[in-house]
Amino acid sequence: MPEGDVVWRTARQLHDALAGRELVRSDFRVPRFATTDLAGRGVTETVSRGKHLLTRVEGDITVHTHLKMEGVWRVSAASGFALRDHRIRLILANSQWQAVGYQLGIVEVFRTSNEDLAVGHLGPDLLGPGWDAAEAVRRLSAQPARTIGEALLDQRNLAGIGTIYRAETLFLRGVNPWRPVGEVPDLPGLVEMARRLLDANKARVETITTGNGARGSQLWVYGRAGQRCRRCGTTIQRGSLGPQLEERTAVWCPRCQPL
Ligand SMILES: [Zn+2]
Repeated sequence: MPEGDVVWRTARQLHDALAGRELVRSDFRVPRFATTDLAGRGVTETVSRGKHLLTRVEGDITVHTHLKMEGVWRVSAASGFALRDHRIRLILANSQWQAVGYQLGIVEVFRTSNEDLAVGHLGPDLLGPGWDAAEAVRRLSAQPARTIGEALLDQRNLAGIGTIYRAETLFLRGVNPWRPVGEVPDLPGLVEMARRLLDANKARVETITTGNGARGSQLWVYGRAGQRCRRCGTTIQRGSLGPQLEERTAVWCPRCQPL
């Protein structure tokens, strides 16, 4: 699942291709908006809010998309051909570029003035211009008995973290994912670590938290269950964390991150 850094980069690609230009074609391949036509309208900008993408169009219109599990936006030179691919959910094209959204988890259109209905619940955006670390800490602290692993994935606390950055952040801070939020010694330090990792990776395709870009050496614990910890040699563990039916994989080193 794409995390905040990938979404941030996607927003920039969409912005570069669409902003300041007039759409010559929009093609919504989702039933609810099948008849929506934005041709002739200029795109103002695309921004990310956590893992949400907001493409703002003239006339108080926002196109809201979310990559969810499998989604991806691809930008290429405009072509006049009809694209036949059942995975396409939305095409936005100007005379130079076409942006094609595949397998998007959310595609919807609403008034820009109503954006808060879709993203107003989000906590501070780790990569947003209004990032507010103190507010993120305040929101996390509001539920002290919750596990820190669950709390970090809850986008209402802070927006942008998925299972990769959760695993890497907690490892680097030596915090077990099952520890209650109220017993995490330095929440501001933890939040700052998450922001630093996302920020360091937002402009590159690969995710590197170890400082080592060699293939197979880029991450501390994510994707390494059953292998040895790079620091202490202990076998990396994997488990399910979260409420029933919403469990997500947690990965940790039991020695570097004691409960
Ligand atoms: Zn270890």
